[in-house]
Amino acid sequence: MHRACVPASTGLSRGCVFVLLAAVIANVVSLGALAFVHITVYVNDREVHLPFGARVAQALAAAGVELAAGDLIDADGAVLEVGSGNPAQLTLNGARCDTTDRVAPGDRIEVTQGVPIIESIVVETVETAQPFEVVGSGSFVKVRSPGAPGKVTVKKGLITGKVFESAKSQEPSAMVIARFQYAVAKKLVVLSFDDGPHPVYTPQILEVLRDEGVHAVFFVVGAQVASYPGILKRIYAEGHEIGNHTYSHTLTESAPESDVLREINDTSELVEKLTGGPTRWVRPVGGALSASFVHAAEASGHTVVLWNVDTQDWRAARGSGRSDEIRLIVADAPPASGSVILMHDGGGYRGATVQALKAIIPYLREQGYEFCTLSELWHFLGLDT
Ligand SMILES: [Zn+2]
Repeated sequence: MHRACVPASTGLSRGCVFVLLAAVIANVVSLGALAFVHITVYVNDREVHLPFGARVAQALAAAGVELAAGDLIDADGAVLEVGSGNPAQLTLNGARCDTTDRVAPGDRIEVTQGVPIIESIVVETVETAQPFEVVGSGSFVKVRSPGAPGKVTVKKGLITGKVFESAKSQEPSAMVIARFQYAVAKKLVVLSFDDGPHPVYTPQILEVLRDEGVHAVFFVVGAQVASYPGILKRIYAEGHEIGNHTYSHTLTESAPESDVLREINDTSELVEKLTGGPTRWVRPVGGALSASFVHAAEASGHTVVLWNVDTQDWRAARGSGRSDEIRLIVADAPPASGSVILMHDGGGYRGATVQALKAIIPYLREQGYEFCTLSELWHFLGLDT
């Protein structure tokens, strides 16, 4: 022990105080100096200077580097969600690190920014419209050649549904439908009425048919049946046949098969609820056939029935036709046996149809015709199974 530092009874000697003071000052100076010591690290090869004990986050800030995740993008490169792609990658001397890790002199930080994620791609095969050809002109149809729809393989985004690639995988081939008449060895004709039930004209037509003792076929529109179920029941109760004329009466030739099938089934179910039986015959809107309509009719167990005599009574509804004109269309060209005659009980003004009907039935009867329903015609032809 140094003698100068032996405490005297009265306190420290002067020399001892000086030594202690010098030691304290030296310690303070060395600690302060350490705080001002800078280290050098590298961020993506860029040199940055940091205080001793700094962390990775400070190094990134000093280098002006921000970590950015990639975006979620669609197949065309449009951003769907910012920052929902792959996160940025961060390494310290080649090993994964965190922004809170401390850096040491000479450390190398590598930053790889997040890359985008492209939305999942789904591959689907889509059927394209099938060309369609009708030959002949008759009330009945049969498929002469079924053909096949075209097929296209489509790649599209799972989220956006955006199609970014499509390629034909099958060329379509046409469906060929033949319209024809059955040769009937008896002067039978079928009267058919479309677009009802109508609250005014259907009852009037039913009166005429009842007075004449004639049974006809009513191709009803499902939506009309829903509005006038009582009239539908009356049609059935009076011995007429109910045909199916779709539900909305808005389907066009380009309507997909699923839509046609739904409308036919909806109407049939409604008719079944009211009469106890489903529909058997179906007639497209405006007689417009398509491959989809023929497929849907087959799938729902219906037989497609058009007409071969058009009374054009719809002209009267537009004010350009009269009942005698409707009658003359039938009278001018005597219908072939087995003819299906088109008229309308719904869809507009049908007063002329009612008047014409009063003349058409007696006229045809005078010519030796008998009236029947489609089921009766089928039975006569031996087509019942
Ligand atoms: Zn119609």
